[in-house]
Amino acid sequence: MNSAVKHLLLCVILSVMPVRTVGATHRAAHASQATESPEVRAALNWFSRNLGWINDQQVRITEVPAPPFQESSRAELVKSLLADCGLEVSIDKTGNVIGELPGANDKEIVMLTAHLDTVFPTGTEVKVRRDGDRLNAPGISDNGTGLAGLVSIARAIHEAGLKPRRTILFVADVGEEGERYDVRRFFAADNLARLPR
Ligand SMILES: [Zn+2]
Repeated sequence: MNSAVKHLLLCVILSVMPVRTVGATHRAAHASQATESPEVRAALNWFSRNLGWINDQQVRITEVPAPPFQESSRAELVKSLLADCGLEVSIDKTGNVIGELPGANDKEIVMLTAHLDTVFPTGTEVKVRRDGDRLNAPGISDNGTGLAGLVSIARAIHEAGLKPRRTILFVADVGEEGERYDVRRFFAADNLARLPR
């Protein structure tokens, strides 16, 4: 997970840079430029220094039950974790958690998402069992991993003092495992209206 999260962070950093060209050569050049920045290096290093914290959040999040459309308790926890990173966080009327990190350029945004819900029905035992380095519980991976990644990226950026060029929205969405809703509906009119332009 550590290297996967690092790669994801690098993608975020790249996507918030003011690059219009999408050629692979340009991307590679900007990737090496990005890792030369002390703030970016600090953000990347944050992950190896805080693996224990990341795992603890994954356990904490997983142990809050979140069947589709019953995510409100987990949404509150993710909201507070994102707020601890200095983000302005709200929950929309559908239940999606939206944390906003304003960029220098507020005309363009990058959105990172992880869904809040699990496929497991109400009443499922979600207590995490630790077996050495291994964490076992319904939903520990799908989507405890994604949510832990989302809040960890926000925290790494915050603690490294990284100021993105583009606005980043950290979104924990509801109903992804249900059949009546998925993240595409995040782009319903009420959310589109509040996004920067
Ligand atoms: Zn899933």
